[in-house]
Amino acid sequence: MTALFCPKCGKDAGVFYDNVCSQCFIGDKKLLECPQVLYSRICPTCGSIFKRGKWSLKEDESETIISCVKDALKLEKQACNIELTISPKQLDYSRYGVHVEAIAKIKDAPVDAALDVEVRISWETCDTCSRISGGYFEGIVQVRADGRLPTGEELERCKNIAGDVAVRAQEKGDRLAFIAKTEELDEGADLYVGSIKLGKQICRAIIDVFGGKFSESPKLVGQKNGEDLYRITFALRLPEFVRGDIISADGMVIEVQSCGKHVSGIDLETGKRFIENFNDLMEVKKLSRREDAVPAVLVSDEGRTIQVMDPHTFETVTIKRPEFLSAEAGNEIKVVKTAKGIFVMP
Ligand SMILES: [Zn+2]
Ligand SMILES: [Zn+2]
Repeated sequence: MTALFCPKCGKDAGVFYDNVCSQCFIGDKKLLECPQVLYSRICPTCGSIFKRGKWSLKEDESETIISCVKDALKLEKQACNIELTISPKQLDYSRYGVHVEAIAKIKDAPVDAALDVEVRISWETCDTCSRISGGYFEGIVQVRADGRLPTGEELERCKNIAGDVAVRAQEKGDRLAFIAKTEELDEGADLYVGSIKLGKQICRAIIDVFGGKFSESPKLVGQKNGEDLYRITFALRLPEFVRGDIISADGMVIEVQSCGKHVSGIDLETGKRFIENFNDLMEVKKLSRREDAVPAVLVSDEGRTIQVMDPHTFETVTIKRPEFLSAEAGNEIKVVKTAKGIFVMP
């Protein structure tokens, strides 16, 4: 039997790679290379990270550290079946010690390597935060209501919707999808938005929930790189009527349940459900509110009509019997007095 020895170092060997023993084959091939100190840029205000040439959304800090090391690692070109283990350990608020281990194969020869790197966080204000602190905005969403003042509850919901829309747009990578500031006014609220696109998205999302409409008007504010620079005012109008309003709509008297593209509610005369396209209504007017209802005595029930005692004049008034009425003669019911007469509340 012939003894097999490495022609390069002369040692006995069982397996050969490129005609030499595994030690000679691997020689000074470096499986892993990495600078000893790396820097990772993170925004101290919002946690955004600077990655592959641009700022992107905040993520788990150790994820940031791991990808910072991954991006800087150089692996031997011929290596395959690489298994990498990167273990970051926080040293202090802005330094991580990272241990890297790799096992791989180079032309079937098993190799392994390990090294230690330090990642230092350099705290830098991101593009978005520096825009916000510089007072940058591209549009104003003016939240108002048609023919009335918006309620505090409505404004609160509008602000929440706007915030959610901004977060979702940021998650999709829109760095300008921020709300720079919110101003509370007697007549509503003004939302200063980082981009025209976001302003439009906010208007649409609010209208989806409340109904209403919006219009845009551009205002030239200057020039940048030879291009006209506009700011857009979005005049958003919440619908005139809200839940609990009693309105006259084309001759009917309706207690509103919702009002947007459609008005829905109860026809107080018949007790039937009412739903109509808002724009199809010719004449709409507010008569009263559910809160303005007062107690009154149901004098008699004639089946198709009822008699109610007017709580102010004490006169007996005959009106149609609404479907929802369940009270009996002599009972107290709630009625609302309007310019169109007395109506029983459901
Ligand atoms: Zn050898
Ligand atoms: Zn930031």
